Amino acid sequence: MVKVLENLYSIDHSEAGDHSLETWVLNCKEGVVLVDGGMRETAVENIGEELKSMGKGWRDVKLILVTHKHGDHVKNLPRLVELTGAPVKAEEHEAPLIEAAVGVKVGKLKHKQVLDFCGGVEVIHVPGHSEGNACYYLRKYKALIAGDTIFGDPQGSLNPPPERYCLDVGQATREIRRLLDYEFDHMLITHGKDIVGGAKEKVERLVEEHR
Ligand SMILES: [Zn+2]
Repeated sequence: MVKVLENLYSIDHSEAGDHSLETWVLNCKEGVVLVDGGMRETAVENIGEELKSMGKGWRDVKLILVTHKHGDHVKNLPRLVELTGAPVKAEEHEAPLIEAAVGVKVGKLKHKQVLDFCGGVEVIHVPGHSEGNACYYLRKYKALIAGDTIFGDPQGSLNPPPERYCLDVGQATREIRRLLDYEFDHMLITHGKDIVGGAKEKVERLVEEHR
């Protein structure tokens, strides 16, 4: 597990030859929040071990947020719900699709809704990668959990999500600019290197390149 910022951790579930694939863990005074759950059994084990190393257990998890419906982000949800008893939430267009895919109840979040965890977690709907793809803005941390909204490569450069993974790549690319309404320094992405410091400038450049 990598500590990205104080009380914000990133767990990389990738195995040899994979894209990186992450779960983020927020250790808040309101409880632990997980964002995305990975797809393999080993990802569940990884999360369990990391909770333990934080001095926490499964039952300390009070909320599971999901960025979008794709299998590598949602397959473990039934097991995670069983272990934690925590509610699962996603953007309102995506919630029914995730429910249909994995059979757990998923609460609906609205664009710009602010969740009362960790100093405020704001939902940002960025459609295109999928119907209800969402980013989560962590106000207190000035950090953005971007999920698959932006892809990275091992060298740290940023790209729109590849067409083969997108519902509508044109929309996915265009709507990245929604992120520029927020003040952020850090950005956590599923497939690629997390950016600590200077993230907004990089996203500005990305938007500029794809005008
Ligand atoms: Zn995806």
